[in-house]
Amino acid sequence: MAAAADRLGHRDGFFHPNLAVTFDDRGPGQTNRFGVPQRGCTFCGQCDIGCNVGAKNTLDLNYLALAERAGATVGTRTEALWVGVTGDGGYRVRLREHGRPGAGREGVEREVTARYVFICAGAIGTTELLLRSRDQYGTLPGLSAALGTRYSGNGDFLSFGRNLDTDFAPAVGPTITTALGETRAFGAHLDARRTAVLLAMGRDRAEGRIELRGPKHRLRVVWDTTRNDPLYADEQALAGQVVRAFGGTPFATPMWRLFRQPVTVHNLGGVPMGDGPDTGAASPDGEVFGHPGLYVLDGALLPGATGGNPSLTITAVAERCARSAVRRITGDASWRAPEHAGATRGAVPEDAAVQSVRLIGPRRPVPPGVRFAEAMAGTVGLPAEAGPATPARRYDATVPTGRVRVGVADTLRMLSSVRATGAPPGRSGAGTVLRFSAFFAGQVARAYLGRR
Ligand SMILES: Cc1cc2nc3c(=O)[nH]c(=O)nc-3n(C[C@H](O)[C@H](O)[C@H](O)COP(=O)(O)OP(=O)(O)OC[C@H]3O[C@@H](n4cnc5c(N)ncnc54)[C@H](O)[C@@H]3O)c2cc1C
Ligand code: SF4
Repeated sequence: MAAAADRLGHRDGFFHPNLAVTFDDRGPGQTNRFGVPQRGCTFCGQCDIGCNVGAKNTLDLNYLALAERAGATVGTRTEALWVGVTGDGGYRVRLREHGRPGAGREGVEREVTARYVFICAGAIGTTELLLRSRDQYGTLPGLSAALGTRYSGNGDFLSFGRNLDTDFAPAVGPTITTALGETRAFGAHLDARRTAVLLAMGRDRAEGRIELRGPKHRLRVVWDTTRNDPLYADEQALAGQVVRAFGGTPFATPMWRLFRQPVTVHNLGGVPMGDGPDTGAASPDGEVFGHPGLYVLDGALLPGATGGNPSLTITAVAERCARSAVRRITGDASWRAPEHAGATRGAVPEDAAVQSVRLIGPRRPVPPGVRFAEAMAGTVGLPAEAGPATPARRYDATVPTGRVRVGVADTLRMLSSVRATGAPPGRSGAGTVLRFSAFFAGQVARAYLGRR
C-alpha cells in the first residue's frame, strides 16, 4: 500500500491504522492488563472473522471478563426477543436460550427483569429488538417514530483488482494493516496473492431505514443509496487508481454491477441519538426516549457515518454513555471507571493522513437520475380489524428510481413506501400508492431524457 501511495504521488495519505490486536508474546501463561490469559499474534493471516489464537482484543478478554469478575452472569447462545415494562418502573426481557440439551431447535424461552437494561446488540440487532417490541409484540408502544431511521453503511464500498504485478503475501499478518487516506474515501486492504480486495469508507448520508415488513414482520433495510452516488464514485475511482498503480484491472462486486447495491460491514444507526423524540430515538446519553433506565450502548446510537472504521468511536460513545448512566444511578457526579486512571491517549494516525491529502485526480461526474421525495398529509382508511380508523398525522412517500435508463417507450419503475404514524401499535399493512398520473410520469421521463 505504501508503494501504491508512492506511485499515486500520495505518500502523506499512507498510514498504519491502530489495531485492536495484542502483539506482545512472552510465552505460555501470559495474561493481558486485565489479568485474562491472552497470547500475542502469530501473524497467521486468518483474522477476517475472529482469531483462533485469541490475540484480538475482543470483549470477552477485557470488558466482559471484568464484568464477570464483578458478579455479572454471561449467557452465550441467548437471544433477546423483546423488551417490556414491569409494573414498578423496571423492564422485563424475553430471552430464547438456544442449544440447551433436549430443548430442540426452538430453544427454551424465559424472562429476566431488571430496573436498568442496557442493549448492546449492534445497529441491526438493537434496532430489530426495539422494533419488534414496539410493532410486533406491542410491549414498548411509545418508542419514538425515529426508531429505525438514520441507518448508514458507513459509506462502505467494496471492490477488487485482478492480475496485479505484486505478490501481497495475504497469508501473513492481521487484516487492514495499512490504509490510504483521502478527502472522502478512506481505507483500503490488499488481500489474495495477486488480487486486491479494497474496502473504501466514507461519510454517506445515513438516510436508510430499518423496518419490519408484512404479516411475518420480516426485518429489512429500506435504503435509497442514489444520493450517495458522488461518494461511491470517488471511492470507486480511488480503488481503480490503486489497482491500476499495480498494473491490475479493477472490478466491482456483482451486487454493485447488477443491482447498484453497496456492501457494508459497518452498519450504523437505527436508534439515533437526538435532542428529543422528534429527532432521535434515544438521548445523547443513550437513554431511550420515554423509557428511563433503558439504554442503548452500541453502533445503533450513532446518527451518522464515522467515515473510518467505526468500532473505536462506538466504544468511546458507549463508554461515555455508561459513565453518565452510572453517575445518574449512583448519584455520584464525579464517578469514573477505575480503569480510566491507567488509560493513556494514543496516536491517531488516521487524522494526520486524512488532513494531509487531497482528492486524487478529477472527480468523476455522476450521471443524472430521477428522485422524488414527497410528503403527503391526510387521512387513512384502515381495515376494520385494525380497530377504529385513526387520522394519520403525516405520510412520507419516497420514490427512488435507482439508476434507470429510460427510452420514450420504456416504463419508469417507481417504488414507494408509506408510513402512517398515527396507526395503532402492533399493526402493519401494505398497499399501493396511486399518486402519479400517466401524464405526470411522461413529464418526468421527458425531463430526464432532456437532461441526458
Ligand atoms: C468482517 C468484519 C470486519 C470488520 N473489521 C473492522 C475493523 O477492522 N475495524 C473496525 O473498527 N470495525 C470493523 N468491523 C466493524 C465492527 O465489527 C463493528 O462496527 C462493531 O463491532 C459494532 O459494534 P456494536 O457494539 O455496535 O455491535 P456488535 O459488535 O455487532 O455486537 C452486537 C452483539 O449483539 C449480539 N446480538 C444481536 N442481536 C441479538 C439479540 N437479539 N439477542 C442477543 N444478542 C444479540 C450479536 O451476536 C453481537 O455479538 C468489521 C465488521 C466485520 C463484519
Ligand atoms: S493474524 Fe489475525 S488471526 Fe492470526 S493471530 Fe494475528 S490477529 Fe489472530
